[in-house]
Amino acid sequence: MYFAINQNERKNLIKKSKNGVIIKYCPTCNRNSNEFKFIGDFCEICSTKKILETIPDSIEINQCKDCKKIKTNLGYYEFNKASLVALLSKIVKNSSVKILNFDQDKKTILARFTIHKDQDKLVFEKQFSYKIKNLMCQQCYWRHSGYYEAIVQLRIDSDNMQQNKQDKIERILKSLTNFIINNNGFIARIDKEKFGYDIYTSNKIETARYFAIKKYKPKVSFTLYGLKNGKRVYRNTYLLKI
Ligand SMILES: [Zn+2]
Ligand SMILES: [Zn+2]
Repeated sequence: MYFAINQNERKNLIKKSKNGVIIKYCPTCNRNSNEFKFIGDFCEICSTKKILETIPDSIEINQCKDCKKIKTNLGYYEFNKASLVALLSKIVKNSSVKILNFDQDKKTILARFTIHKDQDKLVFEKQFSYKIKNLMCQQCYWRHSGYYEAIVQLRIDSDNMQQNKQDKIERILKSLTNFIINNNGFIARIDKEKFGYDIYTSNKIETARYFAIKKYKPKVSFTLYGLKNGKRVYRNTYLLKI
């Protein structure tokens, strides 16, 4: 992409020195590879200049106004160096990115890019300023609209009451809630019931996965609640008696 010229041009720009070493000449500035580093057909200075011309000085970052996560091509993630890497590697293709500095007050990011081309390597730094564009991520949108996919009915088996079961119910409530949130979901609602809790979760697949990992075997039932793209959509209810 940035670093190649056509074969014919290349022939005129490569010469052999007396001792047989191949010397390249940069098509833009005529610097030679004896004195300067090259990447592909161009010297390092011209290569860097060419790339920098294609990179904006200022970028726009889409941020959820509710959970403050930012949108990357991989989804919404916490606003930190890791998600900025995902964002910036899209701006400079085939590069690896390291965030050197990230200032949320001044709204600036200093990044180091490394691009490999065959045996050559080009490293350069670039400072960006950024603007925040507020929007709402799908998870937050769903949470606001009361969306849920599964209800977990955690119950103490009233035929077999024991004090330590109350503690166990609380522990499961906490670990299930953490599990759903850590897997990019949310808890829509928690209702306290006489013998336990009803927990409304955003994701029935993750809810089922929680039970499988913990080796709990709840009783599952399904309620049809609508059509999505012509398919029947069910909500799952998991009744777990402790
Ligand atoms: Zn050059
Ligand atoms: Zn959000």
